[in-house]
Amino acid sequence: GIDTTLATDALVKQRSTSLHRAITSHKGDNGHLFILAGSAGKSGAAILAAKGALRAGAGLVTLGCPIQLKDIFGSALPEAMTFLLSGSDTCFSIDDLAVIERELATKDVLVVGPGIGQDQRTAELILTLYERAKCPMVIDADGLNILALAAESLPQPGGPRIYTPHPGELSRLIDMDSGAINQDRLEAVKLAVTKFAGSKDSVVVLKGAGTLVADGSGQRYINTTGNPGMAAAGMGDVLSGIIGALLCQGLAPTDAALCGVYLHGSAADMLFAAQGPGFFAGDVADRIPCARRKLLV
Ligand code: AMP
Ligand code: MG
Repeated sequence: GIDTTLATDALVKQRSTSLHRAITSHKGDNGHLFILAGSAGKSGAAILAAKGALRAGAGLVTLGCPIQLKDIFGSALPEAMTFLLSGSDTCFSIDDLAVIERELATKDVLVVGPGIGQDQRTAELILTLYERAKCPMVIDADGLNILALAAESLPQPGGPRIYTPHPGELSRLIDMDSGAINQDRLEAVKLAVTKFAGSKDSVVVLKGAGTLVADGSGQRYINTTGNPGMAAAGMGDVLSGIIGALLCQGLAPTDAALCGVYLHGSAADMLFAAQGPGFFAGDVADRIPCARRKLLV
């Protein structure tokens, strides 16, 4: 239909022109991203999101850090800062709501969900931030599973929201089995965006070969980059950080999602061309500057 557009190199170039940096740019111009992600055994998800964000040009990245993870977060990625949360030793918790909201006052964008788990205290925190945070928020992985569990009692979002499900996560969100989703991905992403239409800046990214991006205007985009080498651990975590970083640099939600999935796939395509499958999610993050330079020439 006329509402479905291929996200070609030319289209994405046009949507990303504002990423060109002024010679006088300083880190304060490029946004401060706050990430709530990771749990015991899945701390890597948070680090990969932070890496994706820094490689995609976020000015500053801070990882919210439960006490249990402080040694890991503190030494994994020197360019990322950590903010210690003490509401629970073991997980992100509603008991930290006040300190997190105080921190958010100086942040531009929030990424939540990769590897975060589904503890009840974590779920309460995520749902409250979903409702109250005014800044753009990228929601991935267990963040989406938490929204799905809230079902009918899901509150109205307090600001722009970018949802990044793979088909399994989308199936829980819209209560449609993943077989049916894979039969008609364009229809499924439309259903999802209708479900979240309550917020005017909702964007749904349905991941997988030919990632789809849909927003409340009815427009849908089909990504043209990416390859099966991306069917590997941590790839989605990196994407959430990339999209967060593009929001930090001032792209509107739809453009951040569109350019984010394009750059993520394009970086992976360079690795696939050189060596086939077997590259790491962290390698994709490291290739983002190269993909960005290719796009912005
Ligand atoms: P996740 O399942 O959350 O780790 O996300 C996987 C990431 O890799 C998403 O960005 C997918 O779009 C991408 N991906 C996985 N498999 C493929 C594939 N066969 N072709 C293109 N992209 C893929
Ligand atoms: Mg994932």
